Amino acid sequence: MPERRVEVRPFGVRYVCDACKQGEMMALAGAQAIVQEGDKVLIRHVCNVCRTLMAFPEKYPTVRYEDIPQQSFGQQNYGLPQNQQGAPQQPGTQVVPQNK
Ligand SMILES: [Zn+2]
Repeated sequence: MPERRVEVRPFGVRYVCDACKQGEMMALAGAQAIVQEGDKVLIRHVCNVCRTLMAFPEKYPTVRYEDIPQQSFGQQNYGLPQNQQGAPQQPGTQVVPQNK
């Protein structure tokens, strides 16, 4: 697959505290932030209002990206180029072998 550039829109994702519904869960830093649960690794977070501790597989706050849909992008130039769809060859483009 060749690379394709897409326009994206970043958006922040915050996790609102389940306990107080006001605070925001903030990821802890360092070794104390990592919780091993079986084969899963979770990241500890603490609410910045009520100090409730929770662990998530993802780190919050985070930034994600979503594609911005473009109307014509991906539709054009998708099939074969025009000159390979049976269009008659233009005069004057014939390659003449050189005699030496
Ligand atoms: Zn809270």
